[in-house]
Amino acid sequence: MVEKFDFIVIGGGSGGMAAARRAAEFGAKVVLIENGRLGGTCVNVGCVPKKVMWNAAQINDALEIATDYGFSIQGASFDWQRLKTSRDKYIQRLNEIYAHNLEKSAVTMIKGTAEFESAGIVRVHGAKYASDHILIATGGRPAIADIRGAELGISSDGFFELEHQPQKVLIIGAGYIATELAGVIHGLGSEVDMLLRGDKLLRDFDQDITQAVTAQMEHSGINIMRNVALAELYTSSLKQDHGQGNQLGFRASEGHGGDDYDSIIWAIGRQPNTESLNLQAAGVEVDNRGTIATDAFQNTNVAGIYAVGDVTANIQLTPVAIYAGRRLAHRLFNGETEAKLDYDNIPTVIFSHPPIATVGLSTTAAKAKFGAQNIKIYATSFVDMRFAMSDYKPRSHIKLIVSGEQETVVGCHVAGAGADEMIQGFAVAIKMGATKTDFDNTVAIHPTAAEELVTLR
Ligand code: FAD
Ligand code: NDP
Repeated sequence: MVEKFDFIVIGGGSGGMAAARRAAEFGAKVVLIENGRLGGTCVNVGCVPKKVMWNAAQINDALEIATDYGFSIQGASFDWQRLKTSRDKYIQRLNEIYAHNLEKSAVTMIKGTAEFESAGIVRVHGAKYASDHILIATGGRPAIADIRGAELGISSDGFFELEHQPQKVLIIGAGYIATELAGVIHGLGSEVDMLLRGDKLLRDFDQDITQAVTAQMEHSGINIMRNVALAELYTSSLKQDHGQGNQLGFRASEGHGGDDYDSIIWAIGRQPNTESLNLQAAGVEVDNRGTIATDAFQNTNVAGIYAVGDVTANIQLTPVAIYAGRRLAHRLFNGETEAKLDYDNIPTVIFSHPPIATVGLSTTAAKAKFGAQNIKIYATSFVDMRFAMSDYKPRSHIKLIVSGEQETVVGCHVAGAGADEMIQGFAVAIKMGATKTDFDNTVAIHPTAAEELVTLR
């Protein structure tokens, strides 16, 4: 027997949950199929546990300048296991809330791995479900390089499972996750080496901003090895001889190498979860990495089959998956035929140390789009008042890129304390087409770091 639904959603992560619930609110009969924990990557092994760890590292940062403010901090210590237990409990509560929300929205939930039998039929544990509308929101998983000993490294998933604080860590990669985890792990007191195959961190972001943050990371003691071609990971017996447990090492080009790591973390991007779906049976096309191509309305090449989130080639962020999923539900079940996510000017924060917040184009991208002669840059750097009492004076950086005679703001970049909470409001203004004059006409809030954005000359 085949059970019929108005909407089948495969994947109970950010995009799938949002689409399923919104469609059900519009009265659709919805089934959501999930083979892991509800909430997907973001809740279980992504944004949420990462932000908890980042918060912990921020608290440690505050302790470091506490004495400058007159506090006497003696005997402060950090209990990794206690934090992990609380973090895991918090995530479990979120899993329960997600399950409850599905129930409240009258979405049928099925546990298991979904695969296509045909373009309109999905199978789970042998049972069959049919629909004219099927959404693929199966997300992705960490990529691991194909080198000898690769399995000795863990991914961000494995990092969140660590029961003990590693004393020395090697992080391979130069993107969001590598940069964030390096800051978090170092911020909690461990030694961190980073291994980059290229010469820079976060190469798609504004380089003035990322170079400033890279310099601060190195100044804080993170060791960044650049232009390294990794050859092999191995178990080192050196420290085992001294009874210190398993140590890990790496061999690489140009004499690079190390053999005393407790953990090696792969952070080299993610790959889409499409293998389990039997997409050939439905005729859904994927590229050579398994990514599903969609048009602006999240349609795949097969009518009635859609994809949102990390399984597509779009920017991999939770709110992006959520918005794309919701807009799709509005289009399919609320008659809003033009509903779609506008992928321009999506703000994002890298929870590095210090954080980077950005919306719009980098300088390189703005030059490519408008021509170097048609853009102008307003930038400043300053010491946040937070460090006014300290000898250490890291500089925050702010940059506005404007274009055309109207000086429309096409890029806004901030690095420094508070950047993470600063950008959302500016993103609204930029999305509305704000000009430099609009920024200038906005009265500053003093004393804040954000005021620098409306007082740039
Ligand atoms: P997912 O959330 O991955 O959900 C997909 C779900 O589908 C999973 O639960 C999976 O189990 C299920 N599934 C897969 N195959 C099947 C199948 N065949 N049948 C049934 N179920 C299946 N984004 C931000 O915006 N801010 C952040 O701070 C941030 N931090 C991050 C930190 C880390 C360490 C990582 C890894 C990611 C982070 N992200 C962040 C990215 C964010 O987590 C993802 O963009 C988001 O979770 C994507 O949502 P999704 O719905 O596409 O996929
Ligand atoms: P990213 O795409 O951000 O970065 C991947 C990095 O891996 C690049 O720096 C790349 O280096 C490097 N790399 C790729 N292959 C290799 C290799 N074989 N050896 C060495 N390095 C390699 O991926 P992440 O895994 O960091 O994160 C995945 C996505 O998750 C992000 O793109 C982001 O969308 C999302 N995310 C969002 C966060 C947030 O919103 N705060 C936080 C964490 C993740 P190179 O630059 O030299 O090519």
